[in-house]
Amino acid sequence: LFAKRWDFLTSVTDMANLPDIGDTEIAFAGRSNVGKSSLINALTGRKGLARTSSTPGRTQMLNFFSADEAPLTIVDMPGYGYAQAPKELVEAWTNLVFAYLRGRPTLRRVFLLIDSRHGIKPIDLQAMALLDKAAVIYQVVLTKSDKIKPPALTRLKEETLANLSKRPAAFPAIIATSSEKVNGIEELRAEINHLVLN
Ligand code: GDP
Repeated sequence: LFAKRWDFLTSVTDMANLPDIGDTEIAFAGRSNVGKSSLINALTGRKGLARTSSTPGRTQMLNFFSADEAPLTIVDMPGYGYAQAPKELVEAWTNLVFAYLRGRPTLRRVFLLIDSRHGIKPIDLQAMALLDKAAVIYQVVLTKSDKIKPPALTRLKEETLANLSKRPAAFPAIIATSSEKVNGIEELRAEINHLVLN
């Protein structure tokens, strides 16, 4: 899957414009600045595929990426938790994201990105509640693992697992990644390959 060349497919701001249902989809979600674009770029091997927005949280879009003949579509969900986000924007995020999560039968898993330096924040718990409500399986990916020391990362993994064990739709394994140091990227690719091929 990841040996292919990935390209941007489409961006949508409302459900009416979603691409046709086809391949298996996986989606990436997380707070603004969590390292989502960097991770998608590292996974697909295409720098600049997912673009960092200079004004975080401004555009509430679902971005779709696909590769020729690969039975997988990657969806970049709008970042949440942008500090200055007005209420209407948060509402729009919730509405679009929830409609997508509920209405997309090919969506197999959401990778929920958590910054290793911050751990799970109240806003992440809100995102998890939304995923639980939509009954979409999600798996936590700790990002920027190069920013903390190995013992702290081990502790964070344990705490995060304990936190997730109470949630109905959480997948019980955590992957730590660093897009910068290219750690955990192969592990995450393997997880995705396994998901798509089974
Ligand atoms: P997004 O807003 O979630 O798409 O986040 P970006 O991918 O744009 O990354 C936000 C910031 O974190 C940028 O300054 C990146 O350079 C930095 N960053 C992303 N991934 C890593 C990582 O693995 N390690 C480190 N040290 N910094 C990272």
